[in-house]
Amino acid sequence: MLRRAEGALLPERVLGEEGSHLDPRSALFKLAESKDEVAELGVEARVRQLNELATGGAETAADRRVYLEQHGIAGVQRFRSQGGARIYSMSVETFPRHINNIYLLMDAGSAILFDCGSGLDSSRRDLALGFAIVRDVFDEPARYEDLDWCIISHAHFDHFGGANVLKRESGARLAVHELDARVLSCFAERLIIASKDCDVYWRRAGVPDAERAVLLEMYTAAKSAFRPQEVDRLLRDGDTIGPGYKVVHVPGHCPGLLCLQVHDVLLTSDHVLARTTPHQFPQAITPFAGLEHYFHSLSKTRKLEGVNFALGGHEEPIWDLRARIDAIALFHRDRLARVKSMCSSARTVLEVALEMFGNQEGYSRIMAIDEAGAHVEYLHALGQLRIANLEEVAGARDPVIQYVVR
Ligand SMILES: [Zn+2]
Ligand SMILES: [Zn+2]
Repeated sequence: MLRRAEGALLPERVLGEEGSHLDPRSALFKLAESKDEVAELGVEARVRQLNELATGGAETAADRRVYLEQHGIAGVQRFRSQGGARIYSMSVETFPRHINNIYLLMDAGSAILFDCGSGLDSSRRDLALGFAIVRDVFDEPARYEDLDWCIISHAHFDHFGGANVLKRESGARLAVHELDARVLSCFAERLIIASKDCDVYWRRAGVPDAERAVLLEMYTAAKSAFRPQEVDRLLRDGDTIGPGYKVVHVPGHCPGLLCLQVHDVLLTSDHVLARTTPHQFPQAITPFAGLEHYFHSLSKTRKLEGVNFALGGHEEPIWDLRARIDAIALFHRDRLARVKSMCSSARTVLEVALEMFGNQEGYSRIMAIDEAGAHVEYLHALGQLRIANLEEVAGARDPVIQYVVR
């Protein structure tokens, strides 16, 4: 909503070309409508500032500059690394009401995009607006067509789904971690095998047949338009790309998840986020995912030298990366303790999910089962849980597994 209200501050040219949907005439109404969001994000001062600018104050031009540097405009914000890279964060609606940060890294003779959105209409619209703002507000010679590289942080659809469009419309070469590359290059295979693995996992978790069919339909729905996409470069931990940006492999949330170190700034994608603890998946569905890998990657990130702040794949900047990492690790330790105490009597993964998150609807139901499953799996791997109905499991072809504290 704030992004829309900031449309009132955009130059005519951007509004004409890419930003007409922001409708600056109704900007002040949009501010009034955004009360809930403002309360949640605690940005009252920013709204006051924006209100003054939109209604036209005395020293507007200078004030606009200050506002622009502090908050950016219409979802585009500029950061600078100590090594002189300009990092533009662009808010992109990749799925309805799901916002990703896509980063454009401008350095001497180099233009790199970090993630490319989902490729859906709203995602392409916001990305085009982002580039228009970078050009016309921040005076940067940035063109989507002329990118050198697009680095995909990991193979989740909101981060890579736009790769087909990118390869069609831009000269950018595509770089992906070697463990995630086949999701792009053998997409049909990956989607089919992953849904089979999910089906088996959910069955063992205790999800009834009819409900599993609905979940599977949801899992594959928005993704079917993607066509297999060859990758130009496979990345590994420790590689450098572009003007010496460093690849840090951090499996856990996703097998091939990578952070990119741009001088003193770490782009963390979905490895570390400012407010949300990144979603976890059981290794039983996705090898190299799971809590063991995630904890290991968190401590690896914590030890990185020379990082002053971090920018995530969603939400706000992370000003104190180590404190945030500690908070996330603690959160999962607490959650593990809770799961363990729930399993003082025998529980399926679905029962743990229901007790932990309540009766979730839609895609959130899949997320709840995955998240609970990742915690149960970790405790089981450590020998802190055991299978409670082993005889039944041994005798049945498609057993539902119950776990209990050992
Ligand atoms: Zn992700
Ligand atoms: Zn994400």
